[in-house]
Amino acid sequence: MLIVCAEQARVEAELLGGLLPCPSCRGMLGPWGHARERVTRRGSGDWRWRPRRARCRGCQGTHVLLADLCLLRRQDEVEVIGVAIEAHVAGEGHRPIAARLGVPAGTVRGWLRRFDQRAEQVRAHFTRFAVAVDPMLGPVLPAGSVVADALEAIAIAGRAWVLRFGPCPVWRIVSRLSAGGLLTCNTSSLATGAW
Ligand SMILES: [Zn+2]
Repeated sequence: MLIVCAEQARVEAELLGGLLPCPSCRGMLGPWGHARERVTRRGSGDWRWRPRRARCRGCQGTHVLLADLCLLRRQDEVEVIGVAIEAHVAGEGHRPIAARLGVPAGTVRGWLRRFDQRAEQVRAHFTRFAVAVDPMLGPVLPAGSVVADALEAIAIAGRAWVLRFGPCPVWRIVSRLSAGGLLTCNTSSLATGAW
């Protein structure tokens, strides 16, 4: 699984041009059909799409290219999940957040619980990225709680990304930097975020 830009035409051009590196061996990926259809719930309505599948010209491994609008094993757009996390850190309960976003309360509770459980790992991961991109980064001041510190690290990493690579919404950067694994239990996806 590889997280790529949500713009399908650009991904296509990168695949054909041999510009996408294999996450396993750093060889170059080429087109290899499509994965099965997915439905991603976006703020603007359901988005039905078929992720591109790619094959490495080096190790022959195949990978599904997931748009950076998504997280692994989550049906909702990362931006919607991000809004819920921000509201949660600001002190709002999962029920009002769910009502506002039009998402089942149990789904929102699941995201927030997982974020709470992983907050320290998330903080460490995104701080490492920010420091790697900007070695002059000053000390990151405590934001008052583990989850607030995690969100602060995400914001700092997002700013570092934008300065280096250009504008991109912060939660899409989160998808890329966590290789889609922000809320998965498998910690290795966070450890090996593709950057
Ligand atoms: Zn490979």
